[in-house]
Amino acid sequence: MSNCYICYSVLNKRTSSKEHIISNACGGRLKSFRLLCRACNEKMGAGFDAELAKQTSHVVALLDIKRDRKRTHPEMDAEKGPIDGDAINKSIAKSAINFFIMKGGDKKFIQHLIPFFLNQEKLDGVEFHFPDESFYRYEPEEVSHIIKLVGHPTERILYCYIELFNTNNFIVRLNDHYDGPAINKTYIYDVLQSKELKKEFPVNYTRSELFSFFPNTNPHLISQHITKRHNRIIDIARQRDRRKL
Ligand SMILES: [Zn+2]
Repeated sequence: MSNCYICYSVLNKRTSSKEHIISNACGGRLKSFRLLCRACNEKMGAGFDAELAKQTSHVVALLDIKRDRKRTHPEMDAEKGPIDGDAINKSIAKSAINFFIMKGGDKKFIQHLIPFFLNQEKLDGVEFHFPDESFYRYEPEEVSHIIKLVGHPTERILYCYIELFNTNNFIVRLNDHYDGPAINKTYIYDVLQSKELKKEFPVNYTRSELFSFFPNTNPHLISQHITKRHNRIIDIARQRDRRKL
């Protein structure tokens, strides 16, 4: 029997809900019924997940990505508002927590983050992050979501690196006093081929390296990275369109 990791209610046939590890609106396919109750799932979906959906909708449209539901996702119809960085951070942190719990992680290591999801308080511990590009070789037409979860008991860190469309890349500090088992899990899902890629993503940081990424105070550099990576996606979309002609 599992419990909702937000409100701890027991999950059964009636109360459980399908939670996408990475938002469905982004074409994420990995999902679990053992994470959130229906009420919490709906609350999160309508809140900060909607903000992420809004901000990635142009990439989804560009690549003509299939989502779980055929009709327009309700998240996409969310009211247009100002860009809310904190909402995005919470949505990304939720993906990281989803993945951690799904892989059998103990809820006690993420418990301190739950209050941030329930109130308006700003969540620290999520930053844009662009690892050294020699770490990982993209396939010629790879457009993927990447999750890399690392639990490092000797460094006492638990963190998760997340790429959305290989463009919006984040690092999430889940626990700075981690003393659970060593964890090293990679998940890579190619959104164009609709399949999981069995590859490794070899980021592995020490405690001081990890902490040096916080806060990321160079918006100019962030936007350079994103633009460069976004251009790669546009090139791939163009190549695909040409083949369709
Ligand atoms: Zn709940």
